Amino acid sequence: LSATTAGSKAAALTPDICVIGAGPAGLALATAAAAFGVSVVLIERDRMGGTGLNAGGAALRALVAAGARAVAVRQAGRFGVVTGEPEIAYAQVHDHVQRVIAAGAPDASVERLGALGIVVLKGQAHFTSRSTVTVEGQAIKARRFAIATGAGPAPPALQGLDTISPLTPEALFALTKRPERLLVLDGGPYGTAMAQAMVRLGSAVTLVASDGLLPRHDAEAVAIIRRALLRDGVVLHEGAAVQRAEAIRGGVRLVLAGSEATGETTLQGSHLLCADQRKPDLAGLDLELGGIRFGDDGVEVNRHLRTANSRVFAIGDCVAGAGGGAHVATRQAGLVLRSALFRLPVRQDEETPSVVHSRPELAAVGLQEAQARAKAGKITVLRWPFSETDAARAEGETAGFVKILADRKGLILGVTIVGAHASELITPWGLALRRKLKVQDMAELVPPQPSFSEAWRQASASIYAPLAARPRLRRLIGFLRRFG
Ligand SMILES: Cc1cc2nc3c(=O)[nH]c(=O)nc-3n(C[C@H](O)[C@H](O)[C@H](O)COP(=O)(O)OP(=O)(O)OC[C@H]3O[C@@H](n4cnc5c(N)ncnc54)[C@H](O)[C@@H]3O)c2cc1C
Repeated sequence: LSATTAGSKAAALTPDICVIGAGPAGLALATAAAAFGVSVVLIERDRMGGTGLNAGGAALRALVAAGARAVAVRQAGRFGVVTGEPEIAYAQVHDHVQRVIAAGAPDASVERLGALGIVVLKGQAHFTSRSTVTVEGQAIKARRFAIATGAGPAPPALQGLDTISPLTPEALFALTKRPERLLVLDGGPYGTAMAQAMVRLGSAVTLVASDGLLPRHDAEAVAIIRRALLRDGVVLHEGAAVQRAEAIRGGVRLVLAGSEATGETTLQGSHLLCADQRKPDLAGLDLELGGIRFGDDGVEVNRHLRTANSRVFAIGDCVAGAGGGAHVATRQAGLVLRSALFRLPVRQDEETPSVVHSRPELAAVGLQEAQARAKAGKITVLRWPFSETDAARAEGETAGFVKILADRKGLILGVTIVGAHASELITPWGLALRRKLKVQDMAELVPPQPSFSEAWRQASASIYAPLAARPRLRRLIGFLRRFG
């Protein structure tokens, strides 16, 4: 296979794998396949790296980190470090976010991928038959195809919104001037974290969460996030139906429905951000010609990530029911590679964590309480508050808890952690679920002391609490004591 410039009427390329989309999913698949010496064509119509590298987790985390620094300065007095109110030089916040984005770019550069033996074609790919994809007139007849076209912003169908062109996350990350009065529509994980970061950086922020705040997460954990948002100064409208949006001089107005007694509520802002509503990007792919089934929510796949055309896989955010994040997209790439190269069975994971990058963070893996009860009937719920650990008290990060759900025998069903470093603390629990460990196994682990991990160790160890109260066990301990 040799490099070919899209646009020339060359003979069809015949790689082993043709990947459409160079976001985290497509890049992971293309680079791993190339490492095994497999010939790969990777097609990208826009910026290499997709949402993941240009407007995703790294950029969000950079913004959140800036907000956290502002709060650290404001709260330093509690530690005896006396400072004043921090000055926010927003243009430099922008530079920090953009530097973080730029730092990831070399990984996705055409030069690096070329050096790995990957043929990168720039342009819009589309299927022309069940076995052919075409880009800029160049046909590719691959043994296997992978659709990794991701998802794009899909602002809600709201009267008047089309007259406003709300900010996408990418557009917000590109602002060099701070939006002074920011309205955020939707209380999903990205909108929530961005609303909090921006209020910490000095914007006046109103978050309108019509479906409630973080509706897919554990309600007890969300209560901790809600408290943090309110304390930071976010004005929160939960469950409020938005009736319409209107462009006004110097900004935007949202009209919320009210009761007969209260009437409508009007919110005004300089900018409107729609961060969470996203839709699989399938436009122009001509999936029908490829014999691939799809719906509004994405490409339909079976549990092996194969589409209706068994030659074609789909991975990442373009898959129906996806939206699991870059880590899920990357994991799926690995699974498809196993299947495409080694014909190994693919088992989609349930042990990939979901994370909200607010401060404190919220991270969860496995089942939530209602699902766990539906699956196992009677369950054990173990909790431990961060306020009962030395590390959290020392760092002034006492908001939060660990919550473990287990069946009657202690088999771990799900874990939610809300608190500082939750995104790090959740990782061993993915392994615990995958290996079907019991809470008792985790209680055996010895984390460093003091550390935030003590919170989950203590939560695990609390499974023994009812045992300690048993009279027979107490009598046995008393009896053994007689022997010294
Ligand atoms: C604000 C924000 C914060 C996020 N934070 C996190 C986080 O903290 N953690 C996390 O795990 N995830 C996060 N995500 C989600 C994460 O970015 C996505 O899950 C991830 O990017 C999905 O990867 P992907 O490869 O499937 O798609 P994408 O990254 O969207 O890449 C798809 C690529 O395909 C290209 N493409 C589309 N159609 C065609 C075509 N026909 N021909 C050629 N190319 C095409 C696109 O141009 C794009 O480059 C965040 C997302 C946003 C918006």
